[in-house]
Amino acid sequence: MKKQVVVIGLGRFGTSVCKELHKLGHEVLAIDRNVERVNGLLDFSAHAVVADATDEKSLKSLGVRNFDHGIVAIGDNLQSSVLCTLMLKEIGLKKVWVKARDLQHQTILERVGADRVIQPENEMGIRVAHHMDSEKLIDYIDLSKDYSIVELVATEKTANKSLNQVNINAKYGCTILAIKRGEEVNIVPLPSDVIRLGDILIIIGHREDLKRFEDRSV
Ligand code: ATP
Ligand code: ATP
Ligand code: CA
Repeated sequence: MKKQVVVIGLGRFGTSVCKELHKLGHEVLAIDRNVERVNGLLDFSAHAVVADATDEKSLKSLGVRNFDHGIVAIGDNLQSSVLCTLMLKEIGLKKVWVKARDLQHQTILERVGADRVIQPENEMGIRVAHHMDSEKLIDYIDLSKDYSIVELVATEKTANKSLNQVNINAKYGCTILAIKRGEEVNIVPLPSDVIRLGDILIIIGHREDLKRFEDRSV
């Protein structure tokens, strides 16, 4: 489904979101008060306009009310970011996602109605640290404070063992959801299936159990 998205603030983050949404086929209205930044997006958005995003009249005259989603990517100017978020919600946009620079900024944005707050530098920093912490970790999704899904590379420890032998359910309370081997993904792994060196195991479990499995058995 084609979405109509207004992206406000065309720094590195806003620009990147804008270009990718455009590439995915969505209708993007890109707004910044800096003309050079706007010019940079003329070829990568449906409309790119110079405007002050804290000026309610300008936003309304641009027809922002007709958009489903808004992304506010004004990271460093707290006042503009908060004001703009508040106005987009008041104009009636269903989903307003906002970039924050820190936790304090995030808390304020949540109070004024942001539907999702993103701290790209912080979130990316955490991901990079996790990847450095573990050479086996390919990717992960945190489902909650306690539970995650991880992708781990199988080393010599698990290679040539069947899932039955690895016995992750009983020993660690985790479940292997799928096994990736090159382009192939086995989404219904059977107890008799044998893990090969370099396979990627997709596992769900409690964070501590996943970590124990990773350290001892994978
Ligand atoms: P980056 O992703 O590059 O780290 P950032 O979130 O740190 O970006 P800036 O680099 O300052 O922030 O980019 C924010 C952009 O938002 C700038 O291009 C700036 O001109 C624009 N901007 C700030 N305030 C307003 C406003 N009131 N109306 C429109 N655009 C604004
Ligand atoms: P952010 O992740 O916040 O967007 P950034 O990449 O935009 O960060 P800065 O916020 O400027 O960059 O942070 C860079 C840090 O690197 C600063 O704390 C600065 O003091 C430090 N730094 C820059 N140059 C040097 C240097 N030559 N030696 C040591 N530290 C440096
Ligand atoms: Ca920045």
